[in-house]
Amino acid sequence: MATAKSKKTALQSVKGMRDLLPKDQAIWEKIRKVTRDLGEDYNFMRIDTPLVESAALFERGVGESSDIVEKQMFSIKSKDDIALILRPEFTAPVVRAYIEHGMSHMSQPVKLYYIGSLYRYEQPQEGRYREFYQSGFEIIGGESDPLYDAQMIMLAYRFLEEMKIGKLMAQVNSIGCRQCRPLYRKKLVDYYKSKPACKTCKRRLLVNPLRVLDCKEKECDPIKKGAPAMIDSLCVLCRGHFKLVLEYLDEVKLPYMLNNSLVRGLDYYNRTVFEIFSGESDLALGGGGRYDHLVELLGGKPTPAVGFSIGLDRVVMMLDKQEPAPANRKEKRKVFFITIGDLAKKRALPLIESLRRAGVHVEEFMGKDSLRGQLAAADKKGAEIALIFGQMEAFEDSIIIRDLKTGAQETVLLIKMVESVKKKL
Ligand SMILES: [Zn+2]
Ligand SMILES: [Zn+2]
Repeated sequence: MATAKSKKTALQSVKGMRDLLPKDQAIWEKIRKVTRDLGEDYNFMRIDTPLVESAALFERGVGESSDIVEKQMFSIKSKDDIALILRPEFTAPVVRAYIEHGMSHMSQPVKLYYIGSLYRYEQPQEGRYREFYQSGFEIIGGESDPLYDAQMIMLAYRFLEEMKIGKLMAQVNSIGCRQCRPLYRKKLVDYYKSKPACKTCKRRLLVNPLRVLDCKEKECDPIKKGAPAMIDSLCVLCRGHFKLVLEYLDEVKLPYMLNNSLVRGLDYYNRTVFEIFSGESDLALGGGGRYDHLVELLGGKPTPAVGFSIGLDRVVMMLDKQEPAPANRKEKRKVFFITIGDLAKKRALPLIESLRRAGVHVEEFMGKDSLRGQLAAADKKGAEIALIFGQMEAFEDSIIIRDLKTGAQETVLLIKMVESVKKKL
């Protein structure tokens, strides 16, 4: 037991988690607004799924050999014996909801969007947290139409454009299908066998060979560069699909480049995968791809799908670097309500309430400062009008309206207060 004398240390937020402070809220509100606006403009419907899901969902959906399932899941101790975790990504939960709520009976495709927090147990670094945020968009059902792939790349691009992030470039690749990928996988394994790749790569070759292309180790760089490219092993159908995706992107003049080593960390993708980058940074700001087998994998009927998400923490980080935080929304002219004395204070509350109900932006000060102190506070808050309610005014059912810019003031009856204040705003 701690001794009574031991000094209590202040508690801090958990490693990799942080507060979004009032000063950060303007940018986060902008992000929420862009998500909502694009969702509505492009006919997506909002969905929210729980923070907690069964571990099985991700073991089956994301793949047991993915980094997420191998070592990044935040598991929860539950009282019954079900393995629960804090969601590490959105696509599997959204697909679970699609199946669970019979959305395959709605008109297809079903277009869904979301925004929220995710949890991964990994080493925190710049732009990477253990609690992080994403906005995302998914098109589930309908045809495996390359038009949808192109639309999703465009929408991801548009999202970042709306956030005023410059020098955007999409990187795209096709990782083939169940027919052509095994052939490529074999080629890749054969190629890597004789190469001095790192330990992680050696292990990945056994469990999930495509992931060697994700390797960030310097020693593996030259090996990666010489590796066979998936794009040369695509079957006729995958080749045709990918060609159309690129043609659509050409059609809308979206800047993109092919990246042979882009595979994304998750097992469920097939055919098109993409990531979007900005200028100097080598961190992807968003990414996604086609996942035609996930619905089936999670117990639904075979259903094509494509989607992406945007890493919002990175977007915020980029904006902090690029330019000063965007200006707050245009503030309404502020009114500062000053009371002097106990009687006035007691009667002030309903008056302030009536102003707020009339749409007036009121700041109040309920401390014991002098009139002068309160006027100084009003000035600090950027108020343009002060309402002064003292003993005398309370007695006479009146209030003083002072223009803080000109110093001009008048006394009005309380019943005229709201109307008189509104005239001055
Ligand atoms: Zn194929
Ligand atoms: Zn490696």
